[in-house]
Amino acid sequence: MLGMLALAAPFAVLLWAMPVSSGGAIWDFSMGLGFGALALAALQFALTGRLRWITHPFGADIVYVTHRYLSWSAVVLMLAHFALLYVFHQPALGVLNPLEARWELTAGRVALLCFVGLIVSSEFRKRLHLRHEWWRALHLILAMLGMLAAIAHVLGVGNLTDTPQKRLLWLGVTLGFMAVLIHTHLIRPMWMARNGWRVIANTPERGDVHTLELAPEGQALKRWKPGQFAWLKVGRSPLSLVEHPFTISTAPETGSNLAFSIKPLGDHTEALVKTPVGTRAYVDGPYGAFSVDRAADADGFVMIAGGIGITPILSNLHALDARGDPRPVIVIYGSPTWETASFREELKAMKQRLNLTLVHVIDRPPDDWQGESGRIDRDLLLRHLPADTRHWPHLLCGPAPMLDALRRDLADLGVPLRHIDYEIFELV
Ligand SMILES: Cc1cc2nc3c(=O)[nH]c(=O)nc-3n(C[C@H](O)[C@H](O)[C@H](O)COP(=O)(O)OP(=O)(O)OC[C@H]3O[C@@H](n4cnc5c(N)ncnc54)[C@H](O)[C@@H]3O)c2cc1C
Repeated sequence: MLGMLALAAPFAVLLWAMPVSSGGAIWDFSMGLGFGALALAALQFALTGRLRWITHPFGADIVYVTHRYLSWSAVVLMLAHFALLYVFHQPALGVLNPLEARWELTAGRVALLCFVGLIVSSEFRKRLHLRHEWWRALHLILAMLGMLAAIAHVLGVGNLTDTPQKRLLWLGVTLGFMAVLIHTHLIRPMWMARNGWRVIANTPERGDVHTLELAPEGQALKRWKPGQFAWLKVGRSPLSLVEHPFTISTAPETGSNLAFSIKPLGDHTEALVKTPVGTRAYVDGPYGAFSVDRAADADGFVMIAGGIGITPILSNLHALDARGDPRPVIVIYGSPTWETASFREELKAMKQRLNLTLVHVIDRPPDDWQGESGRIDRDLLLRHLPADTRHWPHLLCGPAPMLDALRRDLADLGVPLRHIDYEIFELV
C-alpha cells in the first residue's frame, strides 16, 4: 500500500502540474518511471529506519521483506527508465565517459550503479562472504550516495522540476529522506547515550546459552510486549553500526531489568556470551509483534520452538505466568539432546502455575527416554494438538527449514494461515 502510494505520488503531481515536456508519450512515461523509482527508493529509508509506527503493526520481519521487494521494484523501474531512453531517445543520454558527459547524467548513472550494487550485495551477501557488519556499512553508504546522486540527477536535468508543485514534491522527498537518516543515525543514538544500560549478571544456561541481565541507568524500556526484541550494543559506542537483534526473554511484568538469552553461533555472539558483569550496553527497542498480546481474546495458545527459538516463547510464558492467565497453552519444544534443552527446569516450574502442556521433542534422546524424539512433524503435531486448538494462535520460532515444514504441516492439519505467526531469527 505504502509502495503504491509512493509510486503514484509523482505521477499524480506530474499530471496535476501540467503541461509536461514535449518529448512525446514514451519520453514522459520514462520520466514517470524514473520519478516513481526515486519515490520508492526514498520510502526504503522510512522502512528501514526502525520507525515504531511502521514496524509495530506488522512486525520487523515483514517490514524487511517488504523493503526487499520494494527495493527490487525501484531498481527495475530505474532500469526501465534508462532502457526506454536508450532505445527511443539515445541522443538525450549523451556520452558515457564521465569526464565528457553532463554532470547530471553522470549523477543518474552513479545512482543506478549504487542501487544495483545494493541489490547485488544484499542478495549475494553470504556467497560473497561479506561479514554482516561490512555489508551493513556498505549498504548505508551505497543507499545515501545513490539517493543523493538520484536527487542531483533530477534537479540537474530539470525536465520535470519546472513547476512549484513538482519542486515541492522533490523537496518533500529529499527532506523526508534526510529526516529519517538524521533520526536513525544521530538523534536515536544520542537518546541511547543518555539512557544506557549496565550488564549486572551473565548466567550460563543449558545448551551453551548465556543470559545477560541488564539494568537501566536512565529511562527503562517503555510500552513493550512479551516476545518483542531489541537491538543490542554491548561495550560499544551508541553510534556503532555493530548491533544485533535479540529477544527480550523476560516479560514486561517482571520489572524494568531486561534479560537476553544468547546462543553463540558466530563471532559476535561468541564474544557476547563472555561479556563481563559491569559492561555498559545500549538497547534500541522494543520491536516485533510475536506476542500473545496480539491475540488478547484467544481461547488458548500453541507455541512451537526449536533450539534458541525458545526465547520469545519463554517471554510470552513469563507474561502469562505473571498475569495468572488461566488459558491453556501447549508448548512443543525441539532440542538436539535432553542435556542441551535450554530452560527445561524453568519450563517445568512454570507447569505448576500455568495451564501448560509441555512436550519435549529430543533429536538424539538418551536410551531411557520415554517422550517424543526425532523431528517435529505432522504425525507428532496430530498426536499433541487436539482438533479444537486449530483456531488458537500458533506461535512458531526456530530454524528457517523447521518453520517452513511446520507451516506446511499445520496448514495441512487445517490451521488457517492467519492463526500461524512466526519469528525469523534472520532478518537479512
Ligand atoms: C528478531 C530476532 C530475534 C533474535 N533473538 C535471539 C535470541 O533471543 N537469542 C539468540 O541467541 N539469537 C537471537 N537472534 C539471532 C541473533 O541475532 C544472531 O544469531 C546473531 O546476530 C548472529 O551474529 P554473529 O555475528 O554471532 O553470527 P554470524 O555467523 O556472523 O551471523 C549469523 C547470521 O545472523 C545474522 N546476523 C549477523 N549479524 C547480524 C546483525 N547485526 N543484525 C541482524 N542479523 C545479523 C545474519 O543473517 C547472519 O548470516 C535473533 C534474531 C532476530 C532477527
